[in-house]
Amino acid sequence: MNEKVLEVKNLKTYFPAANTFGGEKKFVKAVNDISFHLNKGETYSLVGESGCGKSTTGRSILRLVEPTDGEIIYLGEPITKLGNKEMMPIRRKLQMVFQDPYSSLNPRKRVGRILEETLKIHNIGDKEERTQKVMDILSTVGFQDEHYFRFPHEFSGGQRQRIGLARALIMNPDIIICDEPVSALDVSIQSQVLNLLEELQNDFHLTLLFISHDLSVVRHISDRIGVMYLGKLVEETSTDEIFSNPMHPYTKALLSSIPVPNPAIKREKIKLKGEIPSPINPPSGCVFETRCPFAFDKCKTVIPELMENVPDHKVACHLYNN
Ligand code: SF4
Repeated sequence: MNEKVLEVKNLKTYFPAANTFGGEKKFVKAVNDISFHLNKGETYSLVGESGCGKSTTGRSILRLVEPTDGEIIYLGEPITKLGNKEMMPIRRKLQMVFQDPYSSLNPRKRVGRILEETLKIHNIGDKEERTQKVMDILSTVGFQDEHYFRFPHEFSGGQRQRIGLARALIMNPDIIICDEPVSALDVSIQSQVLNLLEELQNDFHLTLLFISHDLSVVRHISDRIGVMYLGKLVEETSTDEIFSNPMHPYTKALLSSIPVPNPAIKREKIKLKGEIPSPINPPSGCVFETRCPFAFDKCKTVIPELMENVPDHKVACHLYNN
């Protein structure tokens, strides 16, 4: 049986919206009541367009932004209300890799020192042990000893992403949240980083939450995929199922925009009408109603629940949920 390492229950993360005219206080509903879990050792991907709330979900799990409501449970323990001190040991076990780690690498410090400081903050080892640990982890992600002494600007984009992985791995985590880790990289480098991530996952028995706007990127590394739209999870199933039997109209549109390598295969591109509505004032029924080619009256007023219609395949759409 699958062991759940992380559960996200009815998570809401709202941010106060700038209110120029006074009056009623409004909120950007970045994450609006989503639930999912991660099984030990799996890769679960959250996908959706920019602004759908997937990155805020990752940050909320680590409490880098404070959730407004809901629960995050790590290894059976609710962590949503823990204070900074109590969160410290849990933060070691839940690490994050960002889109471009460069912005979080001190440009005046050598990479080895930067990694050592991560250990020092968490009181891990003495100076000698920390140096050895850093040398080891740099070698694990494919660097030589000399890279310890280089500055962040001396590394390419792909190498910097490997430094980001090293910084996460050095804490010996259970879960790594990878927020668009390859979207700023060339396609050839993307596959190198993804292959390395898969190797490390096996070697370190990691569970990955992979966040991406691109379904084609997550296809080869994910066990399960959750599709987000406007702060909601609209579909969730295994990777094979999502590619062979997508159900939600938004998932179908996302899939139709993936280029087909063989020009002989024709795939009809589904063009969505309009723009994503404002998360300050989302549609009152189905969040996708304003752009959905299949919308009908009920969609305007009734929120579709994420329900399992086919075994292990959940979808939030009135076309299936009667
Ligand atoms: Fe479209 Fe209605 Fe389904 Fe929403 S509930 S995806 S609007 S058909």
